[in-house]
Amino acid sequence: MIIDRLAVSNPGPHEVLIRTAACGLCHSDLHFIDGSYPHPLPCVPGHEAAGIVEAVGSEVRTVKVGDAVVSCLSAFCGHCEFCVTGRLALCLGADTRRGPGAPPRLTRKSDGSTVNQMLNLSAFAEMMLIHEHACTRIDPEMPLDRAAVIGCAVTTGAGAVFNAAKLTPGETVAVVGCGGVGLATINAARIAGAGRIIAADPLPEKRELAMKLGATDVIDASAPDAARQIVELTKGGVDHAIEAVGRPASGDLAVAALRRGGTATILGMMPLNHKVGLSAMDLLSDKKVQGALMGRNRFPVEIPRLVDFYMRGLLDLDTIIAERIPLERINEGFDRMKQGHSARSVIVFDQ
Ligand SMILES: [Zn+2]
Ligand SMILES: [Zn+2]
Repeated sequence: MIIDRLAVSNPGPHEVLIRTAACGLCHSDLHFIDGSYPHPLPCVPGHEAAGIVEAVGSEVRTVKVGDAVVSCLSAFCGHCEFCVTGRLALCLGADTRRGPGAPPRLTRKSDGSTVNQMLNLSAFAEMMLIHEHACTRIDPEMPLDRAAVIGCAVTTGAGAVFNAAKLTPGETVAVVGCGGVGLATINAARIAGAGRIIAADPLPEKRELAMKLGATDVIDASAPDAARQIVELTKGGVDHAIEAVGRPASGDLAVAALRRGGTATILGMMPLNHKVGLSAMDLLSDKKVQGALMGRNRFPVEIPRLVDFYMRGLLDLDTIIAERIPLERINEGFDRMKQGHSARSVIVFDQ
């Protein structure tokens, strides 16, 4: 990635201009940066941000200038089949685009050429111009660097537990992968009252973080008998296995860790043509596999609740965030992510 100077258009009727305070580095950005998932270029990545509203369009009623907000890539239209049945995260957000004839949101200052916005956000920038349904107002007391990571990793991990698994207190959970999403999943499982929380990761330092966030047991995910260890610890397997890595082997581990009647929820971005499957024996044992796009969030309700969990000391964002770096060091941040050793890096902008 290079750093360049861009011009940002004025807010359209339903748009909000936000001064970005912080933006987390998410593994999904890396899929677009390294080209394994396609996106039109040039573009500005970044989708896990918090900031302060600087200006609003004429029709905006949900936020006002000066509000602290968290952005979310699950922009919703509010009136499609998915929205009116409460499944906002599935909305394709057709009308969140600017509409025909409108100038592009982002252009290069040097030659006026269009720069593509990624996921309607493009948050690795001091300013974001986004649809009002792509952000939500939060408690102004909330520190914005910690609020940022709620926008993707924490919403996804917590949503997997609360919305997709619908965990009942006492049920057992295995979380495969202890990056930002996995750690948020573990923390949410503790908040939801999970009986036993088993975290699987190949790296000892990540297993240590998992214990801090609420894991009751940790195992080395790369051990050949990882699934057997989980089945033994839980005397038959877990009720819920949540995959938060995006590697085929971790999907297989999630399925193999299930007890009879258990459900595996796959959050990670695997190679697009990869299949995660159940055997006939798994099906006869009433096992299930499901996706949970962005934790099946209803983010305008859930992000303020997650902020509240942080303020009350239930959600441990301080442990999830490994480092704060300036925009100039963004490529180093992604290099470290590729090595897999830290939890979450957050870009912090000067205010
Ligand atoms: Zn993300
Ligand atoms: Zn919709």
